[in-house]
Amino acid sequence: MADVPTITLNDGTTIPQFGFGVYQVPPEETAETVAEALKVGYRHVDTAEMYRNEQGVGEAIEQSGLGRESVHVTSKLNNGAHAPDDARAAFEESVTKIGGYIDLFIIHWPTPNAEGSDYLETWKTMLEFKDDGRARSVGVSNFEVDHLRRITDETGMRPSVNQIEVHPYFQNREVVAYCQEHDIAIEAWSPIAQGAVLDDPVITEIADAHGKTAAQVTLRWHIQKGYIVFPKSSTPERIRENFEIFDFELSDDDMSKIDGLDKGEDGRTGPNPNKF
Ligand code: NAD
Repeated sequence: MADVPTITLNDGTTIPQFGFGVYQVPPEETAETVAEALKVGYRHVDTAEMYRNEQGVGEAIEQSGLGRESVHVTSKLNNGAHAPDDARAAFEESVTKIGGYIDLFIIHWPTPNAEGSDYLETWKTMLEFKDDGRARSVGVSNFEVDHLRRITDETGMRPSVNQIEVHPYFQNREVVAYCQEHDIAIEAWSPIAQGAVLDDPVITEIADAHGKTAAQVTLRWHIQKGYIVFPKSSTPERIRENFEIFDFELSDDDMSKIDGLDKGEDGRTGPNPNKF
């Protein structure tokens, strides 16, 4: 079984750099799909209240016999639950479904234009969960530089991670640079752009040269960038394929060719967090 590197977050906790994402895994199939990933060797699962499949993640871990402590689980506070009391209730529910505590709990989206909520107040509530101990770490997702600056300036507490869209076509460089400068770990969501980068000739040429697939090369690029990644798949062969990225290395030249694929804003697959 491959040795997945771990990253130490700015609060001293550790997280496996590679994991399994369950966005769009139907709730009734989640336990089985996650069980497959655990069998392959994944020890990190990324779920969310929004995905309605936290229960399945918790069940798979319990039934695996590995022990709750062996698997790092991230979940996310949903957009409609930012108000402090709603956030507290949502946290309790996530904790129960996942199995007593959550390794990393993050604000899913800042929703800066939502009426009746303010991500700064939500961040203060997240810090309660960290103090409570049942969120081992707390962080954010889809935060832009001004959002990060505001919560850090106002509370003096940095998030441990910022989970943002990053892949070869959208490298999100400004947010990445800010996070790196402030020791906020980058988690790259949609790491293969939901498949959109897999036919890219630059990536397929590098893949052929290494005897690897385009998905493996793209995931390896993220690992060598230092990002935390958790591709999603429901197919056992692809779950295994995506995990087999620790037995080869991309050269500096390979890395800079993939760096060159960035399309800026045009490369996004998801919404701009300032407008969502
Ligand atoms: P992804 O880039 O991981 O792509 C997943 C899709 O690519 C799958 O549906 C599958 O069709 C295809 N695929 C996977 N492996 C493949 C392979 N080896 N060969 C060919 N095709 C393959 O996209 P994603 O699921 O959007 O992102 C990964 C995870 O990131 C999610 O599951 C979720 O946990 C997280 N995420 C978070 C946010 C957020 O707002 N925080 C948003 C999107 C995703």
